[in-house]
Amino acid sequence: MGENKRGGRGRRGGHGVDRRTVLIGGGAALLGGAAVLARDELRGAWYRVPGVEKARVPGELDHPGAQWTAASEANWRRADRPDDYTVDRVVIHVVQGSFASALRVFKDPAHQAATHYVVRKDGHVAQMIRELDVAYHAGNRSMNERSIGIEHEGFVDRPQDFTAAMYAASARLTAGICARYGIPVDREHIIGHVEVPGTDHTDPGPHWDWSRYLRLVRTASTDARNDTTDEASGSR
Ligand SMILES: [Zn+2]
Repeated sequence: MGENKRGGRGRRGGHGVDRRTVLIGGGAALLGGAAVLARDELRGAWYRVPGVEKARVPGELDHPGAQWTAASEANWRRADRPDDYTVDRVVIHVVQGSFASALRVFKDPAHQAATHYVVRKDGHVAQMIRELDVAYHAGNRSMNERSIGIEHEGFVDRPQDFTAAMYAASARLTAGICARYGIPVDREHIIGHVEVPGTDHTDPGPHWDWSRYLRLVRTASTDARNDTTDEASGSR
């Protein structure tokens, strides 16, 4: 579950704040709850003046090879990470359902929660929210602001759901996230939903193999670094 919306449509109007929100949020955000939420973020946020925010391209991806399929705007809020919030956590989730069911509920504005990514058993990765935005996935406001959320298809009590292809694809995804934000690859920074302060969620559950996962993330990180070095030195 995600954080609750603050405020509400009842406070809309007056003082020209909504107009600014519209300018910043763009047309798409006008009708959704995201515009209402964004208004609260404007106070003291000088970098949100129009034209200063990073350019956004619809469908743009943060993880190469992922499938872009947008979550409902009610399930996340606009941000400009890592400039407004430091990103220093990756939160691992398990859907308690299929890949398709995760996409369906994250597209549902009534769900009030979604992760940035969903990983399928065959290793296919969907990106539903840009990493610069805050997804409602951890049920904890400050954790949402500082983290990237990754859902995994399957059920916590079915270890066979956590396939080798899923572990490998998720590890490459997490390695890329850690590289982008300088996040250490360890269990302090790569955590389960169950470890989020105040949560009553248990995912990813006892069958998620953390030592295997961290090993894969480290390997993927090293491989990515070597690729970059190869490119830089022109040795390919
Ligand atoms: Zn979860």
